[in-house]
Amino acid sequence: MSKFFSKKYASLKPYTPGEQPKGRKYIKLNTNESPFPPPSAVTKAVKQASKSLHLYSDPDNTELVNLVAEKWGVKPCEVIATNGSDEVLNFAFMAFCDGDTPAAFPDITYGFYAVFADLHGDPYQAIPLKEDFSIDPKDYMGVGKTVFIANPNAPTGLHLSVAQIEEILRSNPDNVVVIDEAYVDFGGESCVPLIYKYDNLLVTQTFSKSRSLAGGRLGLGFGCAKLIADLQALRYSTNPYNVNKMTESAGVAALKSEEYYQKNVQTIIKNREYTKKALRKLGFTVLESKTNFLFIKTAKVDGFKLYEELKARGVLVRHFKGERTGAYNRVTIGTKAQTDAFLACVKEILKENEV
Ligand code: PMP
Repeated sequence: MSKFFSKKYASLKPYTPGEQPKGRKYIKLNTNESPFPPPSAVTKAVKQASKSLHLYSDPDNTELVNLVAEKWGVKPCEVIATNGSDEVLNFAFMAFCDGDTPAAFPDITYGFYAVFADLHGDPYQAIPLKEDFSIDPKDYMGVGKTVFIANPNAPTGLHLSVAQIEEILRSNPDNVVVIDEAYVDFGGESCVPLIYKYDNLLVTQTFSKSRSLAGGRLGLGFGCAKLIADLQALRYSTNPYNVNKMTESAGVAALKSEEYYQKNVQTIIKNREYTKKALRKLGFTVLESKTNFLFIKTAKVDGFKLYEELKARGVLVRHFKGERTGAYNRVTIGTKAQTDAFLACVKEILKENEV
């Protein structure tokens, strides 16, 4: 840290992104990316957009936002486009939390929530998940704080029903409830239609998972016009060109390639169920999942050891230290070939660790 670094950030613990290895080629099952590349319509659109990179991008992302509004059945003023959904989440912490209005989110969830809260000096309450790793909606009833819930949750993969989310929304009319739907396309149910019923609801989504654009950085926020206007004020006060030309074009082309993504999502869901069954047969505890990953543990090998042994064999998964998570690993669902390679390594490791 330099002597110039502001004291307000001195104790900041930055988010640790999943490993993006350079050099050795790994089977990458550690950051919940799609194993499928974007379709050629998307890469062509990016190439075309790159020809006008000498000009700034449209700060309103008009083409993209209009198309999103049409596809999701909302008005353009109820949508914000951001540089990944991390950015809209960051804006939500800036806009809706402060010393008087702390944040509340599960103790085991997306690690960035705590980082954003600390970054902005927002106090927060980390509400413990139940013993089975599920969220108890009762814990959030009338909590009087800005609620952040990943639905489905990460790294657990478990989800709440829309009816349960509605209970939380109804009991917190004076607080914003942010529902992070990064993984909703893999079997969850979206709360976006509820923005017409609850003026305290913000829903975030991403193109990083089901739409194969993690490297493009494109996220969305949905809410009533006034909530979105708050977020736009922050966007225009930080970086109005947050979604660059190539990413906007990629997003538009992606939304016109729904069939391609639908097919991939179905393949991932099928592989997820296949992997879950195979791991359970090997004696693993595997949480139910409505996402593109599984949260798994075995009594036969320590969680971190399994992570290390897989890595040594060229398979990357994600391990989270922590009292309740340390025994587990989060495994992204890849192609069938990747899954089979992962399972073969798991079998080998189990065999070597037999007592
Ligand atoms: N929410 C959750 C629950 C996530 O797991 C992630 C990505 N790891 C994000 C949001 C952010 O995704 P992105 O910024 O790529 O849209």
